[in-house]
Amino acid sequence: MHLSKYFLPVLKEAPREAEIASHQLMLRAGMIRQQSAGIYSWLPLGLKVLRKVEQIVREEQNRAGAVEVLMPTIQSADLWRESGRYDDYGKEMLRIEDRHGRDMLFGPTNEEMITDIFRSYVKSYKDLPLNLYHIQWKFRDEVRPRFGVMRGREFLMKDAYSFDLDEASSRAAYYRMFVSYLRTFDRLGVKAIPMRADTGPIGGDLSHEFLILADTGESEVFCHRAYMEMAVPGAGLDYGDNDAIKAIVDDWTGAYARTDELHDEDLWNEVPEVDKMNARGIEVGHIFHFGQKYSTPMGAKVAGPDGQDHNVHMGSYGIGPSRVVAALIEAGHDEAGIIWPASVAPFDVGLINLRSGDEATDAACADLYTQLTNAGLDALYDDTDNRAGGKFALADLIGLPWQLIVGPRGLKEGKVELKERATGEREELSLEAAMNKLT
Ligand code: ATP
Ligand code: MG
Ligand code: MG
Ligand code: MG
Repeated sequence: MHLSKYFLPVLKEAPREAEIASHQLMLRAGMIRQQSAGIYSWLPLGLKVLRKVEQIVREEQNRAGAVEVLMPTIQSADLWRESGRYDDYGKEMLRIEDRHGRDMLFGPTNEEMITDIFRSYVKSYKDLPLNLYHIQWKFRDEVRPRFGVMRGREFLMKDAYSFDLDEASSRAAYYRMFVSYLRTFDRLGVKAIPMRADTGPIGGDLSHEFLILADTGESEVFCHRAYMEMAVPGAGLDYGDNDAIKAIVDDWTGAYARTDELHDEDLWNEVPEVDKMNARGIEVGHIFHFGQKYSTPMGAKVAGPDGQDHNVHMGSYGIGPSRVVAALIEAGHDEAGIIWPASVAPFDVGLINLRSGDEATDAACADLYTQLTNAGLDALYDDTDNRAGGKFALADLIGLPWQLIVGPRGLKEGKVELKERATGEREELSLEAAMNKLT
C-alpha cells in the first residue's frame, strides 16, 4: 500500500474525551471514529488489526473442533421469552419494535438463538459433541460506555456454544475451549491469565475470565506470579486427547488467580508474599459452563444410547475481538505510539522514503517495495513528500514492527536503515542484508 493512496486520517492531538492510552492512540492513528456514544466506525488501519485478531480467534476455534456459523444481529423477543431472559436482561438490551408491532432486539449474546438452531436439527447423541460459534456484532446499552472500543455499546464478539450428552463430556468441551483460549491469546502476542469467575446461581467451578494485565484495567486482580512463566501448548496438541487437555487446564488453574469479584483473602494469604501479584486487568474472554439452563426451558434434547431423551449440557465461550484490539495497545505502547505484536500488526513493515521525488531514492524504494510484496510481506510505503521527522513520527505512532528507512545519502554507499519498533534499535545494512533480515 502506498501511503499517498491510503486513507489514514491521523490526528495531531488526542481528543480530550479520550482518557486512556489505547483510546487516544486509536483515535490519533486513524483507526476508529466515534459515531455515537460507544458506537464506532472502523477505519482502514483499525479494520486491518480487527480482522487479524478475528482470524487468529477463528483459526484456534476451528483447531479445537468448533464449527463456524453466522447468526443475525437482530433477534425475535419470543426466543428470549422462552428462556425467561426477556424480562430479566434489563436495560442493557436494546429493544426494537418492527412495523408489524413485533418485539425484536439487537442481540447482546446468542444462547437462545443457538439453542433454537440446535433443537431444530440435532436429535441424537450420535451427533454430539457439537460446538458452534460465530463472530458477530453485539449490542449492549452499557450505562457508561467508555475508553473507546474497550467498553463500547456495539462491539464484536466471538461466541461459541457447546452441546453434549452429559456433564462429563460437557466438562471436556469446556476444557478444550479453555486450552484454545490459551493458544489464542498467545498467538495474539499477549499474556492473558485465566481467573476463576462467578458461576452465579448454577454453581460449580467452571467459569473463567481471561484477563490481560494493564494499569487501566477495570478489574482488580490477585494472582500468583507463576502465571507469568507458564508454558502455552503448541499447535501440535491433540484436542482428541481428553486427559492431555485436562492436564493443561489443571496446570493453568493450580495457582491462585481471581478478580475482585471472587477474591478470597484466606486463600490469598496462603500464597507466599514474593509470589503475590496484585494488579489491574482487562477482561478479554469469558468461558462458562451452564449445564441445562437453556436446554431445559427451550426443549433442546437428544436421544441417548439408552433410547431416552436427554436435555443437552451446554457451555458458552466469549472473546471480544474489538476489545482485544484496545487491550493489546494498553499492553503495548510507549510515548511515541503503538507497538503491535507482529501477528496482528496492520502492516508488517513501513517503508520510509526520506526524499520522495529524488530519482534514485524513488527507484530503490519501488524495488524494495516489490521485493517485500513478493516475499509475502504487507508493506506500507510512505511515498508522501512529508518531512523525514513527520514520517518517523507517523511510523512510530502506528506501531508497525519494522521500519525500512531509505535515503539518498545511505544509498550512495549501498545502505539502508532498519529500525525495530519494539526495541527502537536501528541498524545500517546493505539493501540485501536488510531484505534478508525481514524475509
Ligand atoms: P464486562 O465485565 O467488561 O462488562 P461482560 O462480563 O459483561 O464484560 P461477557 O458477557 O462475559 O462480558 O462477554 C464476553 C466478552 O465480550 C468479554 O469478555 C469482552 O471481551 C467482550 N465484551 C463484553 N462487553 C463488552 C463491551 N461493552 N465492549 C467491548 N467488548 C465487550
Ligand atoms: Mg458487561
Ligand atoms: Mg465481566
Ligand atoms: Mg464476562
